[in-house]
Amino acid sequence: MHKGIEYAKALIRNVPDFPTPGILFKDITPMLADARALHIVLDAIAEDFIGQPVDAVVGIEARGFIFGGALAARLNAGFVPARKPGKLPTHADKVSYTTEYSTTELEIHKGSFKPGAQVLIVDDVLATGGTAKAAADLVRMQGAKVVGYAFVIELAFLEGRKKLTDARIESVITY
Ligand code: AMP
Repeated sequence: MHKGIEYAKALIRNVPDFPTPGILFKDITPMLADARALHIVLDAIAEDFIGQPVDAVVGIEARGFIFGGALAARLNAGFVPARKPGKLPTHADKVSYTTEYSTTELEIHKGSFKPGAQVLIVDDVLATGGTAKAAADLVRMQGAKVVGYAFVIELAFLEGRKKLTDARIESVITY
């Protein structure tokens, strides 16, 4: 592993039994608070998508917003938030999904993409893949195309990749 990535990885904190018993929560806040680590992680994701045209980055609430906004700026793309139910102020498309520790819904404002727009989906953690797949379903529902998925952390043993078969998947740190 690149020594910069090792540096960032060392700043991810494991919190046992959060938010529910049996879950080992990957707390990225120490990594976010470190200027060098944040820069390294954003550069790593941006580099993976050099040469891939991206019209919009979809960030998934809430930690996906942190990376999604910064990446959209680096890739010269727009940013579209995928939000938890009831947060968006006007008409939205909605899908239900399950994550490693909950069942919930995700929404994107209707008309968020130009027809055929190329979309990159970004989140902090890929666990079972339910969340990222829900975001992808919303993108497709609106006539846009998912061209990639980017995660800071992938929990490979949960096999979330198997749910995301339509585009390339890049993760910076894999467990
Ligand atoms: P999943 O839908 O199972 O892939 O879960 C991914 C979503 O849940 C992401 O938005 C993550 O922020 C969050 N998540 C799931 N498992 C963890 C974990 N072990 N540590 C931190 N966040 C997690």
